[in-house]
Amino acid sequence: MNSYDSDKMADVLSESHGLVRTDDPAQADVMLLNTCSVREKAQEKVFSELGRLRPLKAKNPDLVIGVGGCVASQEGAAIAQRAPYVDVVFGPQTLHRLPGMLDDARAQRSTVVDISFPEIEKFDRLPEPRADGPTAFVSVMEGCSKYCTFCVVPYTRGEEISRPFEDVLAEVVALAEQGVREVTFLGQNVNAYRGPMSSSGASGETADLALLIHYTAQIDGIERIRFTTSHPAEFTDDLVTAYAEEPKLASYLHLPVQAGSDRILATMKRGHTAAEYLAKIRALRQARPDIALSSDFIVGYPTETEADFAATINLIAQAGFDHAFSFMYSPRPGTPAASLVDSVPAEEKSKRLKILQTRVAQQGERFAQGLIGSTQRVLVERPARKGNGQMAGRASNLRWVNFDGGPDLVGQFVDVVITEAMPNSLRGRMAAPAAA
Ligand code: SAM
Repeated sequence: MNSYDSDKMADVLSESHGLVRTDDPAQADVMLLNTCSVREKAQEKVFSELGRLRPLKAKNPDLVIGVGGCVASQEGAAIAQRAPYVDVVFGPQTLHRLPGMLDDARAQRSTVVDISFPEIEKFDRLPEPRADGPTAFVSVMEGCSKYCTFCVVPYTRGEEISRPFEDVLAEVVALAEQGVREVTFLGQNVNAYRGPMSSSGASGETADLALLIHYTAQIDGIERIRFTTSHPAEFTDDLVTAYAEEPKLASYLHLPVQAGSDRILATMKRGHTAAEYLAKIRALRQARPDIALSSDFIVGYPTETEADFAATINLIAQAGFDHAFSFMYSPRPGTPAASLVDSVPAEEKSKRLKILQTRVAQQGERFAQGLIGSTQRVLVERPARKGNGQMAGRASNLRWVNFDGGPDLVGQFVDVVITEAMPNSLRGRMAAPAAA
């Protein structure tokens, strides 16, 4: 989501002020930090990064420094108090207002702050989507209304709001016309998507994510559809059915569970039990037997015992995740959990995190080894990082696949027989000539 937002910042400033990206900080007229506040560590990084930018401003007083994203949303004008050389502070929902804020900052030479939530206005003001390669993100909803006790997102990004159904489809059509073959629908809670349908007139009918997937699959040129991130409590039967019925839906799902203990899930206010989560996973595997599953975990949530953690490890084995993002609990200001005693000592959190990560890595390795000999449909994205005349693309299960081939294959789907499995990628050889 943040990398999508960063691209949009570049797009709006390119359109309004003709700005182009540079990798050389000394060349920059404008520097924007797009920030994350989901954990304390991410938040602290912002201030150390700002400290590193300060000398550039001393050298070039015309340099505009901006802070956007969720730290901006949470801290607002306090950022300028701690780092007075910051010119612009904007939130995830006001990035489309950057051109005006930039002009104001240059004119008034004092910090311009706008961290309001003007809801869907943002989508109407963003420039036309521009494809950059064969894959594209399409944001379909913003914010979150789940209010999990540990999470800062509803306070920094606002409540759930969905883009109109037809607007999303029009964006996908525009991207497909520019050569995009794979779209990833984005939302903090993407399966809460309820896009108003203009064709429904006054009835107020909305389209859910399953319907959006079915319509998108009909768009010429679109061959693969992904979505992220989902909440288990709203993972509907219709979505499970979409995996059975829609071959263009990728064989991959990221479904954050956070913990495997019912007591912890209840105190986190996740709205489901471990058994309910596993029942959804079983249904998914029935609908799509080769699906790859990943999840998010928090270890050391207040009051988490050894037994609670053992339940998490047990759930990992039962669900058969092959990848996970895992974090030590970090209290976030303003969230309900921040008022609880952060009872699990840091060393214990760190120990549990290591155990969990080792388990998931072992499962991931087994999953990857199991792919050897299989044929994977790969969307070719670019030359492989390590060169050797190889190309790289992602399989339906999101794994990177490297194989011998030429750059003319970029943007095409090719069948690759997997011959080797590494921790972060697969290697193989092309099975058949590229499909048109
Ligand atoms: N709705 C998004 C989701 O479910 O993926 C929110 C994503 S958040 C950016 C990604 C992950 O960060 C969460 O799923 C959770 O595992 C982790 N996280 C959120 N708040 C946290 C906290 N206070 N401490 C540690 N990890 C946290």
